[in-house]
Amino acid sequence: MIITISTTASSEERAQLMALLCRITGNQHPIKTTEIDRREVIALDASGIDAQAQAALSEQRAVERLQRIKTPYKLVSRAFKAQNSSIIIGQHHECEQVTIGGEIAEPVIMAGPCAVENRDQLITTARAVKASGAQVLRGGAFKPRTSPYQFQGLGVEGLHMLAEARQITGLPVITEVMEPGMVEIVAQHADVLQIGARNIQNYPLLLAVGHHSKKLPVLLKRGLSSTIDEWLLAAEYIVAAGNPNVILCERGIRSYDPQTRNLLDLSCIPLLHQLTHLPVIVDPSHATGRRELVPIMARASIAAEAEGLIIEVHPDPNNALCDGKQSITPEQLQQIIQETRLFASIMKREVRVA
Ligand code: PEP
Ligand code: MN
Repeated sequence: MIITISTTASSEERAQLMALLCRITGNQHPIKTTEIDRREVIALDASGIDAQAQAALSEQRAVERLQRIKTPYKLVSRAFKAQNSSIIIGQHHECEQVTIGGEIAEPVIMAGPCAVENRDQLITTARAVKASGAQVLRGGAFKPRTSPYQFQGLGVEGLHMLAEARQITGLPVITEVMEPGMVEIVAQHADVLQIGARNIQNYPLLLAVGHHSKKLPVLLKRGLSSTIDEWLLAAEYIVAAGNPNVILCERGIRSYDPQTRNLLDLSCIPLLHQLTHLPVIVDPSHATGRRELVPIMARASIAAEAEGLIIEVHPDPNNALCDGKQSITPEQLQQIIQETRLFASIMKREVRVA
């Protein structure tokens, strides 16, 4: 259930509503309000709320609207909000601003190295990525690696390099944050906070990016074996904590076939567009693990109406410290960007309804 609070409600009327909600829900959870599109709302699981209690709630003067939402996720659901959410990237640092989602038809391309390796590598790639037409620079400073013996990233030093690359190119930057205690410092340097596939169930981290005062856009990658509902509930954590700026990223899920690193679930894109108002992008690099598959899967993702792509690019992919096999060159990126833009311009996008 989602209750939209009337903008004209007096403090007594609000207090009355809160008291009633506490009684109805048995006061098991504190009643929290969240701001969505400049409106204050309360989202709650209404499975234990009977018809009589619901009627009493809808009669409250502080209640402008009461919506029954059947799905376990509420605020991110299309049933709650019919219009596509649009998210502005780059509002907190001096750089170009990029809008993703809404009714924007042109895909947003994020590109850069898997990991920030050194200043030269990053600045060279950033310049090339910008020249290719990408709008956001990616680069991992903190790398969640499967083996503890692999390159773990440059950490805070890498964040400084990303900020410098933004200053040089004007591109906003996206980088991963792995733990709640690091959200503040990553937010000081980045324009988009990436939550990696391995951290989608790190609930303290989801809450930390949700609570952060800047409400920086969050790129929430699908977990290695997340169901769509689990993924949307992870997004719900962030939105319910106060940050509505969530972008979903399909990056492939585990399969039994080692030929590709993961299995790209393209059908999740139109499905998500039915279920949620949040923008959806695709990472064809991690989804395939093979650079020769990246251009075609990038095209396929745009054909399936993804709002953007995030692609790993390296000036010398064969010598990359991380994910070289799936990294493409800046020249290949340029071709992908030209193709996908052309493709998107001739596509008639589906009209999405709740
Ligand atoms: C990455 O973007 O480099 C990364 C580690 O991605 P994922 O979390 O999808 O594996
Ligand atoms: Mn990577």
